[in-house]
Amino acid sequence: MNEKYRENAERAVEILIRYIEKSDGGLREGLIRTPERVIESFDEIFSGYSLNAEEILDSTFNAEGYDGIVLLKDMEFHSTCEHHLQPFSGSAHIAYIPIERIVGISKLARLLDMHSKRLQNQERITLSIADDLVRVLKPLGCAVILEAQHGCMKCRGVKKNNAIMSTSAMRGVFFENPEARAEILQLIQAKRA
Ligand SMILES: [Zn+2]
Repeated sequence: MNEKYRENAERAVEILIRYIEKSDGGLREGLIRTPERVIESFDEIFSGYSLNAEEILDSTFNAEGYDGIVLLKDMEFHSTCEHHLQPFSGSAHIAYIPIERIVGISKLARLLDMHSKRLQNQERITLSIADDLVRVLKPLGCAVILEAQHGCMKCRGVKKNNAIMSTSAMRGVFFENPEARAEILQLIQAKRA
């Protein structure tokens, strides 16, 4: 991305700050470097655009006969709502049942981060992770559950501070088989003693 593009983005933040402070003049002292910092933080918050699932899930291993559930639960995630540019964050639980191939467990966390670090809605993150796992890993089934609190509901609009939004995507055996679905939900809820 070229330098001009970045300068324009910093200019845009400066214009927003003037709008917020209802000021036509130059930026006051505490705000002078804010546009630069905001764009710098955007580079991190929105770093998910430069990645894809094929790259993240590229190295898989022989499952050596393991055919049970692999679950990574209580993963923290932070994202940005595309409607209000407000943060939303919470926990994600990602599970799959392998057919022959397993993937390094940290790759599931990286997949979550890739989708979270974009302008998003929670439903799309949930579906995208499930789609990627089905497409790349071809498991017997996969389950993705996200629970999050949304800044745009806390600070504005309906102001419901403690509301938690849950979304889920069940694929393969978790969609078709009620016992498999019950097992995964139980594993996720099982208390971390
Ligand atoms: Zn929103």
